[in-house]
Amino acid sequence: MSHHCRALILHCIDFRFHEAIKNWLKEKGLANNCDIVSLAGASKGLISPKNPTEPEIILRQMEISSNLHKISQIILMNHTDCGAYGGRDGFASNEAEHNQHVGDMRRAKKIILSKFHELEVKIVLAKINPLEQINFEEIK
Ligand SMILES: [Zn+2]
Repeated sequence: MSHHCRALILHCIDFRFHEAIKNWLKEKGLANNCDIVSLAGASKGLISPKNPTEPEIILRQMEISSNLHKISQIILMNHTDCGAYGGRDGFASNEAEHNQHVGDMRRAKKIILSKFHELEVKIVLAKINPLEQINFEEIK
């Protein structure tokens, strides 16, 4: 039996974001059309893993998704105030936090593209404010 979907998303385990991510995926036409990999820190696992096996685990999930479900797109979604990055207090400013996440996701994108030439990689930063309101910034 074959069953295909459009994309794979790599996002953090953080429960505060799940409802918002679900709605964002729906908006993008990706609800029930997308494999989900959920790991603390998301792209951080490819760039500066706590455990040296993390990059292998992440890339393996992408390989399976590509081979089995014929995805055409990978979405990397980090988020602000991420515990794996020491939370928002781990940064001197919002700008420093933003730059760290965007930089890590861009580096992760390069690693992914070097393995999966045919896939499109999108970068999205999920931003949470102190009132726990969430919005999504698609990075070019
Ligand atoms: Zn997180």
